[in-house]
Amino acid sequence: MFGECHAHLIMDGLNYKKAVELHRDGVKDGIIRKHLKTYQGLGVTFVRDGGDALGVSKRAKKLAGEYGIDYRTPIFAIHKNGHYGAIVGRGFDSMKEYHGLVLEASAEGADFIKIMTTGLMDFDNHGNVTGTPLPKEEVQEMVHIAHEEGMAVMSHTNGVYGVAAAVEAGVDSVEHGNYMDETVISMLADSETVWVPTLVTVRNLLGCGRYEDTVIRSIMENGEKNLRLAFEKRVKVALGSDAGAYMVPHGDGIMNEYQAFLTILGATHEVNEWLKEGEVRIRKKFRREL
Ligand SMILES: [Zn+2]
Repeated sequence: MFGECHAHLIMDGLNYKKAVELHRDGVKDGIIRKHLKTYQGLGVTFVRDGGDALGVSKRAKKLAGEYGIDYRTPIFAIHKNGHYGAIVGRGFDSMKEYHGLVLEASAEGADFIKIMTTGLMDFDNHGNVTGTPLPKEEVQEMVHIAHEEGMAVMSHTNGVYGVAAAVEAGVDSVEHGNYMDETVISMLADSETVWVPTLVTVRNLLGCGRYEDTVIRSIMENGEKNLRLAFEKRVKVALGSDAGAYMVPHGDGIMNEYQAFLTILGATHEVNEWLKEGEVRIRKKFRREL
């Protein structure tokens, strides 16, 4: 089985607020163990977390060995105050503060740095990404600082401007990457950046009733078109479901994501080899060099 290259153990795929509340006055091992057991049961031996503000992924890394899982974490994700990201991490105002957070994550045992450079897809306003993307000069500096500290960078990024800026800055992986165009996909193909599309964060919303299915369908179709292009151009790609996000349960998430790839591209040896290669890159890069 493939690894899960994007999960948030702090969330449960159902109700973010309730799930986080459970850990508010101290991390609960029982919940973490339940999710780890689910992964173990499916034969998933590699999980890369996207971070949280309460130390859940940090604790998960400590426990994961008991379940035969190689667990990687950024500890918390880093966002610019006033921009998207407070849900999974900590904010900064100045580059000095950002650098401080990088050092803190590193001291707490982070395997890599997770940054948030744009908002989310706007399900009520198709074609848009929420909020303002960070300017590319800023992203450049953030990636530079993390790399100087010997840490790889996982970047939560959507939209043409955001992904182009992240790839130019040399992020090691782009997460989500919704609403790219062909030019940006070509840039990705020419780079060393791995794209983790997290298709099921959109696909699993179909029919859930929270959003208009016509909007979900059109975002899905855009994602399918981009995935086909990425496959043609052999962008480096890996499987990650953003497990814990709404309608994306731990375990099922990565199975659904894999199935989505096979549905869109065909269940071929080539697709499987392509995905394996991407995961190998993630496993190699997103580890601390001690
Ligand atoms: Zn995430």
